[in-house]
Amino acid sequence: MTSTVELIDFKERLSDATARFLSRQHRLFIGGEWVQPASGATRDVIDPATGAKISTMADGGTADIDAAVKAAREAFEHGEWRRMSTNERAKILWKIGSLIDEHAEELAQLEVLDEGSAYNVVKNFYVRLSADHFRYYSGWATKIGGSTVPVNMPGEWHAYTVREPIGVVGQIIPWNVPLLMAAWKLAPALAAGCTVVLKPAEDTPLTALRIAEICREAGLPPGVLNVVTGDGKAGAALVEHPDVDKVAFTGSTATGKAIVRAAADNLKRVTLELGGKSPVFVFPDADLERAIPGVAEAVLLNSGQACTAGSRLYIHEDVYDRVVAGVAEYAESLKLGHGLDPATHLGPLISERQLSRVKGILQAGLDEGAKVYSGGGQPSGPGYFLRPTVLTNVKPGMTVYREEIFGPVISAMKMSSDDLDALVSEANNTVYGLAASVWTKDLSLAHKLAARIRAGVVWVNNHNQTDAALPFGGYKQSGWGREMGFSGIEAYTELKSVGVYLG
Ligand code: NAP
Ligand code: MG
Repeated sequence: MTSTVELIDFKERLSDATARFLSRQHRLFIGGEWVQPASGATRDVIDPATGAKISTMADGGTADIDAAVKAAREAFEHGEWRRMSTNERAKILWKIGSLIDEHAEELAQLEVLDEGSAYNVVKNFYVRLSADHFRYYSGWATKIGGSTVPVNMPGEWHAYTVREPIGVVGQIIPWNVPLLMAAWKLAPALAAGCTVVLKPAEDTPLTALRIAEICREAGLPPGVLNVVTGDGKAGAALVEHPDVDKVAFTGSTATGKAIVRAAADNLKRVTLELGGKSPVFVFPDADLERAIPGVAEAVLLNSGQACTAGSRLYIHEDVYDRVVAGVAEYAESLKLGHGLDPATHLGPLISERQLSRVKGILQAGLDEGAKVYSGGGQPSGPGYFLRPTVLTNVKPGMTVYREEIFGPVISAMKMSSDDLDALVSEANNTVYGLAASVWTKDLSLAHKLAARIRAGVVWVNNHNQTDAALPFGGYKQSGWGREMGFSGIEAYTELKSVGVYLG
């Protein structure tokens, strides 16, 4: 079944600031200045809800990455950032958070136009979390210390540790929730005293460019943050660059593996936030009034384009019929449309390429025996929309069970066993290990499952909630290392031991 997506004319809704920003011919941010890419090449920036061009970006390449790394190296070795009092560094990070709040409407509009999500979610969730992230790490800037260590080496010693910034960091981010992804990367690296070259996804360059301006306005010295827009080749040049000390990457598992191989030459440090195939368990004693929309949103947030999407939904047989029907009803009630339309709940997928990829996985699932319970199909009209789809009859081994879909597709499965071992082995039957959620009032059961699911984050009676203070990252092929909390600082520092022989 198909229906039409009504698109509003978004131009009338844009603030002056947003319209001004869109109309600029964007360049690269290197050494605190806007510079043309060496090749002079540009690319169109597309609104995925309409497929129309909304702005123009610079298409950076290897020479631009070289220039950006040089600026970051100069700022790291000879600039003031590392040497600045930590109070001053903290103030600048706090100011970046305040400026994000101040420009929240513009940032949210740019993000909606570039990425497609609904305005309210972007403004009240992602923009707010981005500002909070800088404020949280502003607090860490003054607290990155070491410790004194009692040692038993011969003689008398004063031994201590210090944490030092790793150096020049290459940061590569994906097109889903790009502003928040930039904040997750930048705030801890800057708090630690590193300098950065940021490469946003080619599909969503806008908010990274706006953040560069905000950082400059907040007083970040030139060269500390450099932004090079471009495609995967620019990302690869950053990863291969011999003068980059660390790469922090968020994106697909396949690209993550390519990055690990490419980083081996100078053994640069690597942290990876990759894909997922997160299980969700609904038990009969759960508060179903909350659980039904909760588990639907666990997948449908951002039209399924979230690394933590709870795409494998296990429902206890006692409540299976009610929960599947409720999830389908909820999904059907969501209005698809342009993210700037206040009535919109669900936006489009990011691109034609992504839409056809998702449709391909869905079709493979149907060919393998999965059934469409509700939704499915592409509405008529422009943009890369897909109606939320609930699948049943999904079995282990099927493509839709195994692969990260990254679209609004829920695979509902019946749990016919209360056997904890069976549930745990089902949950862990994936190469991924990013997230999971358990919906029950039985705290003992929830804790037992939380302890045995091999995933970096387990939510109980919730899903997709993150906080700057709470470590985040993946087991298995969902990544290397953790972001957030003190783990975020560890990821951007080297630990040095100093042993002073006192005689
Ligand atoms: P992607 O294709 O891996 O791209 C991610 C970034 O890497 C983009 O900036 C991309 O540039 C760049 N890139 C592509 N090839 C590269 C190469 N050989 N070397 C270096 N950089 C390269 O991922 P995506 O499709 O944009 O994003 C979706 C994926 O991100 C999903 O798998 C999702 O689960 C994952 N994700 C994970 C988290 C997490 O925290 N675990 C959060 C969000 C998303 P171009 O865009 O220009 O190609
Ligand atoms: Mg776009």
